Amino acid sequence: MKETTLAPLPYADDALAPAISAKTVSFHYGKHHAGYVKTLNGLVAGTKYEGLSLEEIVAASREAGDAAIFNNAAQIWNHDFYWNSLAPAGKGGEPSSELKAAVDAAFGSLDACKGALADAAVKRFGSGWAWLVAKDGKLAVESTSNAETPCGKPGVKPLLVIDVWEHAYYLDWQNARAAYAKAVVEKHLDWSAASRRFAAD
Ligand code: MN
Repeated sequence: MKETTLAPLPYADDALAPAISAKTVSFHYGKHHAGYVKTLNGLVAGTKYEGLSLEEIVAASREAGDAAIFNNAAQIWNHDFYWNSLAPAGKGGEPSSELKAAVDAAFGSLDACKGALADAAVKRFGSGWAWLVAKDGKLAVESTSNAETPCGKPGVKPLLVIDVWEHAYYLDWQNARAAYAKAVVEKHLDWSAASRRFAAD
């Protein structure tokens, strides 16, 4: 039986400190993210979803309105994407020339793009996610609620995401979501990864 697995963290627990402490990563990855994987595998056992890829489970459960399966599958996908949207300070690289041109066309500058992403993170009411996406080659910032995800949305290519559920920042920043978002956009976005995603078909 093929189960959904917990993807390895791409860096050590303390690699994002102090913006995101080792303690936050240990709970966020080791309890929240791992918990979604365990719950999903329990929910899909013996159902039509068993053996499907994670992306297939997201799409099929969205279509069928199976909320519990969708929520857990989408959260796994979003968390995989989140860990791979972040990099240790100084290791996130720069946007490729193609991505930089798209950033400038949409936002005017890279700083303005970072500001728009942080703003979306702050303004998302309640739990959710702030995304930088490409839609038919044009960049946009958007946010989603709870587990909702651009995964599988036609014409939408996610490039970067910030988790704005309280579990992502509360141990380090308490209620100061804006300070967390600012620290992430200024020091920890993986622009090399975003550039590879932007260039991919
Ligand atoms: Mn989370």
